[in-house]
Amino acid sequence: MKICPLCEHGLISKIKVKSTNEIIYICNECEALWNNINICEDEVLNFDSFMKSRKLQLLWDEFNVVEIL
Ligand SMILES: [Zn+2]
Repeated sequence: MKICPLCEHGLISKIKVKSTNEIIYICNECEALWNNINICEDEVLNFDSFMKSRKLQLLWDEFNVVEIL
């Protein structure tokens, strides 16, 4: 299991964005987001900006969970 480096208790899920087929990684607690498997504090992206930049709604409906890391 992979623990989120930011909140230090959330688990990281590997997610597929349905509309773009992108693979991203999200903490299930604090919604920290990564666009690659390098899950570390320096690489974290902002969830809201990521979704807005792709004109996606802030809904879990936009995603398929591939696996929990
Ligand atoms: Zn977290």
